[in-house]
Amino acid sequence: MSTDLPFIPPAKPLIGSEEREAVDRVLASGMVAQGPEVAAFEQEFSAALVDGREVVAVNSGTSGQHLGMLALGLGPGDEVIVPSFTFAATANTVAVTGATPVFVDVDPEIFTVDPAAVEAAITERTVGIQPVHLYGHPAPMDALLALAERHGLWVFEDAAQAHGATWQGAPVGTFGQGAMFSLYPTKNMTSGEGGMVACAAAETARTVRLLRNQGMETQYANEIVGYNNRMTDIHAAIGRVQLAKLSGWTAARQRCAAFFDAHLRGVVTPVVREGATHVYHQYTIRLEGASAAERDAAATALREEHQVGCGVYYPTPVHRLRTFRTEVDLPVTERLAAEVLSLPVHPSLTDEDRERIVTAVNTVAGAGA
Ligand SMILES: *Cc1c(COP(=O)(O)O)cnc(C)c1O
Repeated sequence: MSTDLPFIPPAKPLIGSEEREAVDRVLASGMVAQGPEVAAFEQEFSAALVDGREVVAVNSGTSGQHLGMLALGLGPGDEVIVPSFTFAATANTVAVTGATPVFVDVDPEIFTVDPAAVEAAITERTVGIQPVHLYGHPAPMDALLALAERHGLWVFEDAAQAHGATWQGAPVGTFGQGAMFSLYPTKNMTSGEGGMVACAAAETARTVRLLRNQGMETQYANEIVGYNNRMTDIHAAIGRVQLAKLSGWTAARQRCAAFFDAHLRGVVTPVVREGATHVYHQYTIRLEGASAAERDAAATALREEHQVGCGVYYPTPVHRLRTFRTEVDLPVTERLAAEVLSLPVHPSLTDEDRERIVTAVNTVAGAGA
């Protein structure tokens, strides 16, 4: 085995000299808390990614989901329909408000909530739907919006992994009453930690701004009970530089995905639905019919025999975590949790890295089959 080869990491935040200079500029100004950099970042993010919808910057994607759904009125006794095949934050942000996340199954090809399953889960307590644009593939927003409209529900998009993805020509973050983007280091762009909330209505955006800052618009004139979930100007300065690089990085992810699509053998490669633009936060293959143990053995072989990093997102569906333990039958989610494996697809991969990844996966998949 070629153990002398350098390890290819599964994800790699790209922080360059421009980001360092931007941080230095803020530090030198002596004004480091939320200020002009945050305001400029909000403007630029809005124009670049959500067709000018108002966006509010916060200190994490999780805060954004939490405040965004609070601003839509979420509270105790309410139910929100969410996928279980996602990161726990999707459900945690519902649960911390006192509401109940109701888990539904996903589409086995694109890994996002199945509209028929969503419709079947609606009760008189349901107030909203939180679809996740998982791995950077948009959820089928036309179908979800139609049924939300029919049942009088709001839609809050979890776009943590999907900066720049589109569905039928419109960018994610412009469909629901609200949407959240994460700026965590492994996401398609970062501010260190951070999140953005995109809001359809000015009133929602105003409430998110109040909740972000102790319920104050005017200093010491607190209007509602709120939090401190502000973004700092240091983080915003990083985010602004990253935003300018995002479209080039997305194109690199898409080129890498096209190369994998053309050369991988013996595994199920990601499906891109007609009308969707995939931004490949993850390039996630399926080892069809594999048990979790077989998939984990393949991941170990990639890492240890081929020095190819890979990840499993997510090995335990959220409804089975000890925090939720919901009795619900989600067969597609269970199967995907055993079969999925995400390969490195980040923009810093070289041609040689891509060749090595293909050879490694084809070798491991061929050996395992
Ligand atoms: C990363 C992520 C979040 C949370 O974002 P943070 O910025 O880490 O708080 C929520 N949902 C999904 C699907 C994510 O991937």
